[in-house]
Amino acid sequence: MNDASNALTSIKGVILIVDDTAAHRLLFEDMLKSEGYVTLSAENGLSALSQARSAHPDLILLDICLPDMDGYTVCSTLKCNPKTRDIPIVFVSALDTTIDLARAFEVGGVDYLVKPVQPLEMSARVRNQLQFRRIQAQLIEQNLRLQQEIRKRYHVENELSANRERWHLALQGSNDGLWDWDIANGSMYFSERWQEIVGHEPGTLLPQRRSWQELVHPEDLEWVLEFIRYHLECVTTHYYAEYRLRHKSGQYRWVLDRGQAQWDDRRNPIRMSGSLTDVTLRHQSEEQLQLLLATGQAVVQADTFQEMLEIVLGKLCTIAEWDAGEAWSIDEPSGRLQHRMGWHSSQPGLEAFQQMRTGLFFSENQGFPGYVWALQEGIWVEDIESGGAFASHRSMFREAGLHSAYGVPIFADRQVVAVLVFFSCGRRSHNTRAIELTQAVASQLSSFMLRQQTKRALTEANTELQRLVTLDGLTQLANRRKFDDYIHTEWRRALRDGTPLALLMCDVDHFKRYNDYYGHQAGDACLRWVASVLEAQAKRITDLAARYGGEEFAIVLPNTDLSGAIAVAERVNQAVRDLKIPHEESPISDCVTVSIGAAYTTPLTGTLPTRLIARADRCLYQAKALGRNRVFVYKDDVLLSEGLGRSE
Ligand code: GH3
Ligand code: MG
Ligand code: MG
Repeated sequence: MNDASNALTSIKGVILIVDDTAAHRLLFEDMLKSEGYVTLSAENGLSALSQARSAHPDLILLDICLPDMDGYTVCSTLKCNPKTRDIPIVFVSALDTTIDLARAFEVGGVDYLVKPVQPLEMSARVRNQLQFRRIQAQLIEQNLRLQQEIRKRYHVENELSANRERWHLALQGSNDGLWDWDIANGSMYFSERWQEIVGHEPGTLLPQRRSWQELVHPEDLEWVLEFIRYHLECVTTHYYAEYRLRHKSGQYRWVLDRGQAQWDDRRNPIRMSGSLTDVTLRHQSEEQLQLLLATGQAVVQADTFQEMLEIVLGKLCTIAEWDAGEAWSIDEPSGRLQHRMGWHSSQPGLEAFQQMRTGLFFSENQGFPGYVWALQEGIWVEDIESGGAFASHRSMFREAGLHSAYGVPIFADRQVVAVLVFFSCGRRSHNTRAIELTQAVASQLSSFMLRQQTKRALTEANTELQRLVTLDGLTQLANRRKFDDYIHTEWRRALRDGTPLALLMCDVDHFKRYNDYYGHQAGDACLRWVASVLEAQAKRITDLAARYGGEEFAIVLPNTDLSGAIAVAERVNQAVRDLKIPHEESPISDCVTVSIGAAYTTPLTGTLPTRLIARADRCLYQAKALGRNRVFVYKDDVLLSEGLGRSE
């Protein structure tokens, strides 16, 4: 409010009376004061101008005839000054002076009175003018406010439109879809780009929240709804979720969904809007990388093909978006492909399909796996119905609702050793990403198979090497190294178990003469026959017959007491004689014979088998000394001859 209206509310108004006649001034003052106005007075033009400027009255009653200047000049001067131009001026003229009305209004007067002035008329005119001025002041103020408001709005509008422009550009650049959900009525706006992300033509998606909900992957829906609820309940400041939406093609796209809700005064959510980003490519490459890393790791760590498949097959199917996948590998005895493992999605009919496949075998060129085997390369079949490789099991595929297939061989050393086949329910056209990924995994599986093959070959070679290292080349019995290892091992076992350990030392009689007479090669053959006897007589799995050196042999007999040792020794002695190898030069027999020393003991802590060997050796020496072709036994520290006096 300005000063004038302030004055009106408290003191009705300040009025400047300009008149050169003192009596008139007094009269007007009395009349106005009695009405509740405050009055000022001036007797000439100059005083009027100065008081108007300093006191800024609400109204001026201005006489036309003044001593220094006329009222018109005072009025126009006041109207020229911005400080005073708004003060309403009412001209007052004496009856004898003709007022130039045209001029009065021209210079800015608002009304006029004629002297002698009637009190009622003056009161009414003054009140009118003041009221008019107050309304005018209010109007000016309102106008000002409106102008300010308009300016502000204009500014906001400008800002908004600049913002809109910026957002529009940003969204276009980010390639995001927009959505806006009216929570109360469930309607939802989807921008063109939003619809495009899920493969829908603009306008084909019903603008309802249901449309969104029906597209969310069943495995994701529950937790995504929970995230939204958290935000609507103000638990989170933003809504943010990465999940799968079903594309019109039936496949799922990974999306990043972000949003922000609005609430009313009572914190009830009324609206939520946000943006949708297609992050499928990023997800796919992340998943692919993880799969390849896991496969690479499995190649090194897995022990069997089965174990390898368990790590890889399901993941590969999910990431390459197959509904079913199978691994077949060549079964050794039958030489055919055998079903090793299967994986299937939750599509109906696939479980039964998988069960039917489990028991199958395919020869080369038979069925789809056999076809891949024969062709030795990856094969994409867009339509199973027309694919020749599916002829034998077409109804099986039809019932399972499978339309497209891909098969890839797995090699080891350039031979197909296994085949992977994949199926999809929807008809799928040639898909480079799925092929590349599947082939990358197949090639990792190939290197796994090669590794397995190499490992097997290496194990076999090692076993053979081990055998060779411990075997005597001439007789194929265990050699001296093996004998030493074995007797030490068995010694320790006997010590642990408190069981007896027996040892036979066996030497061919007069073998030098045999060699000399029949030749070295015949000597070798003779040694092999004797060795075969020893091998045959060391009957228990734990018995070990070994070539001790030259024409000397040993038999280690774990958990065998003296009577057992004597029995084996006697059998060996007899069996060699039964070979009836002629020995013309032997002074004791006409065929090859052996002498045997037998010893046994229950090992004691701190002792070594060397003592047992020495005892058996001494017995052998005694057997020789006593005439050969016999068994000599060491018993209770006494040397006893067994089979003494035998002669042939
Ligand atoms: P004894 O009855 O006292 O045992 O008399 P011997 O002639 O059998 O014993 P000696 O130790 O004098 O001779 C052992 C012979 O065995 C000497 C060697 O020519 C022969 N011999 C050792 N190793 C082999 C072999 O690997 N092949 C052949 N053919 N002869 C061998
Ligand atoms: Mg000998
Ligand atoms: Mg000898």
